[in-house]
Amino acid sequence: MRLQKYLAQCGVASRRKAEELILQGRVKVNGEVVVAMGCLVDPDNDLVEFDSRPVGIKDRKIYIMLNKPTGVITSAKDEKGRKTVLDIVNLPERLYPVGRLDFMTEGLVILTNDGDFSYLMTHPKHKIYKKYLAYVKGSVSEAGLRALKNGIEIEGRITAPARVEIIKRKKESSLIQIEIHEGRNRQVRKMCEAIGHPVTSLKRVSVGLLELGELKKGQWRHLLPKEVKQLK
Ligand code: URA
Repeated sequence: MRLQKYLAQCGVASRRKAEELILQGRVKVNGEVVVAMGCLVDPDNDLVEFDSRPVGIKDRKIYIMLNKPTGVITSAKDEKGRKTVLDIVNLPERLYPVGRLDFMTEGLVILTNDGDFSYLMTHPKHKIYKKYLAYVKGSVSEAGLRALKNGIEIEGRITAPARVEIIKRKKESSLIQIEIHEGRNRQVRKMCEAIGHPVTSLKRVSVGLLELGELKKGQWRHLLPKEVKQLK
């Protein structure tokens, strides 16, 4: 369907007015501003945004990825009045973060109003891997790496096997990439602490097939329909 017709059908504006909005650069398709008039869209597979708001049927499900900075809390409200992810992604829809990142962890957080999707992403039986980059104190030994990979006892329970790689190793600090599918509280920090290498900074760079990519700290964007499908 032609873009201006779709915008009109969604009640954004009349077809003629929609053409003006397109020419003004206020319409994006799959994250890119479109100014060409002949653009065709498939409402089931393309993300159409007007002034950075997704266009579509009223109760449309919304899926967002945010690059959370440190010093921001991953919940809808904070009793202590700290800044939350919803202070950054300030949309009229009632959104919820999918899983949590610690106050001092940065990186990829998904927000949605789709409860089924959230359940699917966080339920342990689905084993969705999350990838982290962790700077830790000291030089991590091969034995330490093996322990992280095979499982470590934390609070009486062994962690599930993890995928771990060393990216940089120096005497005073190491950078490791660690992928886990469990979502236990402060899990990466506790695992590293348990092998004697406390984390000094932690960043989540992917969830399943979804990668943070070039998204800058504090920025967010809507997921493309194909990204949502890949995650499901
Ligand atoms: N593991 C942690 O220790 N912290 C996070 O925020 C996420 C995973």
